[in-house]
This record gives sequence, structure tokens and C-alpha cells, in this order.
Amino acid sequence: MARYTGPVCKLCRREAMKLFLKGERCYTDKCSFDRRPYPPGQHGQRRMKFTEYGIRLREKQKVRRIYGMMEKQFHAVFNEAERVKGVTGENLLALLERRLDSAVYRLGLARTRSEARQLVRHRHFSVNGHTVNIPSFLVNPGDKIQVRERSRQKAVFTASVEQAGRRGTPEWLELDSASLEGTIKAQPNREALTLPIQEQLIVEFYSR
Ligand code: SF4
Repeated sequence: MARYTGPVCKLCRREAMKLFLKGERCYTDKCSFDRRPYPPGQHGQRRMKFTEYGIRLREKQKVRRIYGMMEKQFHAVFNEAERVKGVTGENLLALLERRLDSAVYRLGLARTRSEARQLVRHRHFSVNGHTVNIPSFLVNPGDKIQVRERSRQKAVFTASVEQAGRRGTPEWLELDSASLEGTIKAQPNREALTLPIQEQLIVEFYSR
């Protein structure tokens, strides 16, 4: 599946908020958004006025970029969120959070979602004892995500777990940092997402 490979700090500046796409750097004074909190480009410092459509577009792009997905894949997740019972916006966020790469990141086994995605692709994780290398694999309550035996000594996991304390583990997940094993305790709920997201605007964007 295709993925964005361009400069990521520009994305934070475009969305006018920190998306935390670069791990440790995001918490230091090297953060580009902290240094230049205006959109990239020649006219970035001009005052911008968004249309109603523009406001909804930016909200959709923001969430899509947080999860590192391309439009086609993101739209497919939205369609699935619409199909299942419940509030579409909340379903969308729950489906995004339940992706294996996202759960790995939220557990603190990777420093960023893109790193989590790569680690999953490189077969470093198993779910309920079976190796899974599909980042979009959806985890369910009761599932156990483990770093595979042969990968446990990798420095990336030690560094990630150390840094994870800063972010905190959401209530629906539990990490045993000694055995590098995570448990899905429940379905992710809306409160688990601390970033300011107005999911209703995304629903309105796709319903226009
Ligand atoms: Fe965004 Fe700052 Fe992290 Fe760059 S360093 S990805 S601007 S939060």
C-alpha cells in the first residue's frame, strides 16, 4: 500500500497543530511547528480565511495525516465506519485506533506510527501467537500483541518503551514492558483520543 514519503513537519505546519510524526524530536525545541507555527510556502504567513468546505477538508486531512494513510484507504475506512452500527465519526476513530500499527504505537512499542508500520511490515509482531505483517489488521478486545522472540533484543523496542512513558498508555490497552507484550482490554472509546479532532466535520466532508 502506498504511503506518504515527503517531509512530515510541513504537514503539522499545514494543519496548524503538532501531529507528533517524528517521535522524540516533537518534544524538543527542534520541532518545526514550534519554531515556525504558520503554513509552509511563500504565502504561508498571510492571513488565511477558510471556506466551509475548506474547514472540513482540513479536518479530514489532519486525521488522515496523523494515521499516515492515503486518501483511497482512508475513504475505505470511512465507508466501513458508516456501514457499522453507531455514530459514524466515533466509529471512524475507533477503526483507525484499532489498526495494528496504531495499537503498536499507542502501546509504546514504536516511537511513531510510521515506525510502527515499518516494524509490522518487517514481521516483528505476532497477534495471539501468529505473525502479522499487515499494518491495517484490526485488533479486538482480548487480543495479545507480542514482539516476536527473535526481535526482542532490538534497541528500537527498548528506546520506544522508554519514551512511551511521556505519552502514557490509553486505558483500553495494557503493556507488560518486561515481556514486550500488549493486551487489548476493550474497544477504544472517544475519550482515549487526546488530540483535538472534530470527527463530525469529517463526516460532513464525505457527506457533501
Ligand atoms: Fe510535527 Fe514538530 Fe513533530 Fe515535526 S517535530 S512532526 S513539526 S510535532
